Amino acid sequence: MTAPRILVLGAHPDDADLKAGGTASKWRRLGYEVKLVSVTDGGAGHQTHHGPDLTRRRRDEAQAAGAVIGAAYDVLDHPDGALLPTLEARGKLIRLIRGFHPDLILTHRPNDYHPDHRYTSVLVQDAAYMITVPAVCPDAPHLEANPVILYFSDDFRKPAPFTPDVIVDIGDELSRMMDMLHCHASQFYEWLPYNGGYAADVPVDAAARRSWLEERIRRRLRPLADRWRSQLLSTYGEDHGRRIEYVEAFEASEYGAALDAAVRARLFPFVPTATQVVEERAGPEWPDVRVDD
Ligand SMILES: [Zn+2]
Repeated sequence: MTAPRILVLGAHPDDADLKAGGTASKWRRLGYEVKLVSVTDGGAGHQTHHGPDLTRRRRDEAQAAGAVIGAAYDVLDHPDGALLPTLEARGKLIRLIRGFHPDLILTHRPNDYHPDHRYTSVLVQDAAYMITVPAVCPDAPHLEANPVILYFSDDFRKPAPFTPDVIVDIGDELSRMMDMLHCHASQFYEWLPYNGGYAADVPVDAAARRSWLEERIRRRLRPLADRWRSQLLSTYGEDHGRRIEYVEAFEASEYGAALDAAVRARLFPFVPTATQVVEERAGPEWPDVRVDD
């Protein structure tokens, strides 16, 4: 069986790695094919630079971030801040998905503060079934079946809070994920601090910046493991589950293929199945007393 193919569709250059960079790194270590995509050109993401200079810079940053894990990071040319779920955009996405023929697509949920995130999600939903219909975009060979579609985690609560179907321990990958995020200098050291009112906090020195960013990212990710601790305990077992500090979580979309046990085991071989956890618990090496929790 060939290695699974994973397509991560974010709205902006940095969304894919920010929301799924740790898991993408795990997939690449296993030899899975991973393509990261920004659906917009990133041309609205700066306080002083605009136009082709900025889009070129963001494309270079994205490619450098993808190179960290040996993955392509494509930046499409829809204008940043002005993405609409048009038929033209749907057709472009259908062709992109068919060309890559993924087993799994990751993207935003359709409820989100940013219209580009919302419409990226809507475009994926709109493409989901149409990729299997030969008469739609007949110049691109259709897919026999839908891939699995999973949503990135978020904090939005209406109309329904994010409910994880898969939670991945990314503790071992955090350093590589930071190497990816560090590539997006225009965002993490310039635009986002300016927009968020903390530009004065950004260190000048490159090494100090990376440490500063890593602490911000750690602070942001840390509460997630506690939010889903009971699921982590039942998935990873008591011992491992309690020690997990950093996770990425994904929610299944009803518009993709079913995430049944066999599919889940193939796509997420690094997440234990319930059976493995039971076996681990019953194993002879399981100590009677844990003192390190
Ligand atoms: Zn974004």
